[in-house]
Amino acid sequence: MKQIYLDHAATTYTDERVVQKMLPYFSEVFGNASSLHFFGQKAQGALIEARKQVAGFLGAKEKEIYFTSGGTESDNWAMIGGAIANAGKGKHIVTTAIEHHAIKDSAEKLKKRGFDVTYVMPDEYGVISPESIEKALRGDTILVSVMTANNEIGTVEPIEEIGRLLKERKILFHTDAVQAAGHLPIDVSAMNVDMLSLSAHKFYGPKGVGALYIRNGVAVDKYMNGGAQERNRRAGTENLAGIVGLAEALRIAVEELPEESERLTALRDHLIERVLTEIPSATLNGHRTKRLSNNANFCFGSVEGESMLLNLDLSGIAASSGSACMSGSFEPSYVLTSIGVDAERASSSLRLTLGRKTTLEDIDYTVDTIKRVIDRLKAISPF
Ligand code: PLP
Repeated sequence: MKQIYLDHAATTYTDERVVQKMLPYFSEVFGNASSLHFFGQKAQGALIEARKQVAGFLGAKEKEIYFTSGGTESDNWAMIGGAIANAGKGKHIVTTAIEHHAIKDSAEKLKKRGFDVTYVMPDEYGVISPESIEKALRGDTILVSVMTANNEIGTVEPIEEIGRLLKERKILFHTDAVQAAGHLPIDVSAMNVDMLSLSAHKFYGPKGVGALYIRNGVAVDKYMNGGAQERNRRAGTENLAGIVGLAEALRIAVEELPEESERLTALRDHLIERVLTEIPSATLNGHRTKRLSNNANFCFGSVEGESMLLNLDLSGIAASSGSACMSGSFEPSYVLTSIGVDAERASSSLRLTLGRKTTLEDIDYTVDTIKRVIDRLKAISPF
């Protein structure tokens, strides 16, 4: 049976070139980068090189890159560390209703610790307008976090414009670029951000390693406590093989981005076009063009997203639905309800995210299968 992976927003495989680059750092170059001896210094050299590379690809300085355990830690650190370090200036934080749980739950935690949080709503396409951010600002706003691109519906946010208005007001600005990196050019200066989160496993790097860019001079409280690694701001022995892998994965993603983005956009548009014209009940979630090149997200009406997923899985297609399993029952996606999709329709959603190995044949097989599955599910539905 065919096996078609259309869940690249959940994670990607590690590129073979990245694996090869990482291998020596498990056994040959195994020293602790903090050790003064030869073994440690070799590891330290690789760490310096990886940091230099990552900084270069993001338009940052080396000392502004901090390696972490992934997107979740980077987001938690930016939110909690940023809020605590600036609490003396005010206690108001602005974020959006469609952020990943790594931001959303950090904001909720801060609320319990006496911070005030405003959640800005997107428009019907998932776009967060600079005007809506501006309206939410107060005299005591110390931190704003808006994702570069949404993980469910793929909408790309106007980060540069939001950053410009926050820069004028000297308010700290963080962006979660976990889904965007590898799909969009990332340049911290052009984006006007003070902090930016990345995660290697979303762009064909290894899992469990990420980075947080922190602009030079920005006050962010220490989040992991212990040793003096990462210039005494993020404790813990560095995951050297992972960091080398992240740097190599980013290099490949940046170099291949123009061509790959064009290829994926064409495949994505073909997928959207076919679904919308051939399945009458289908609607597209997110913006038609301001979306990640690899993301398509649909609602199909009277069929359950989970039933679709299971049936697609049986046909060899791996996809994702927007709902989250909460104590045995499925909750509709808060991203979809935030853009105005009603709860019932939201429960019929399906996210298809394309990747480096996705072909036109895969897309056509997937659309044909979705049509078949919907017809079958409708035929057995009691409603
Ligand atoms: N932020 C976004 C937008 C994501 O999509 C994800 C992962 O799905 C994360 C953060 C968390 O990243 P990680 O899995 O590396 O912890």
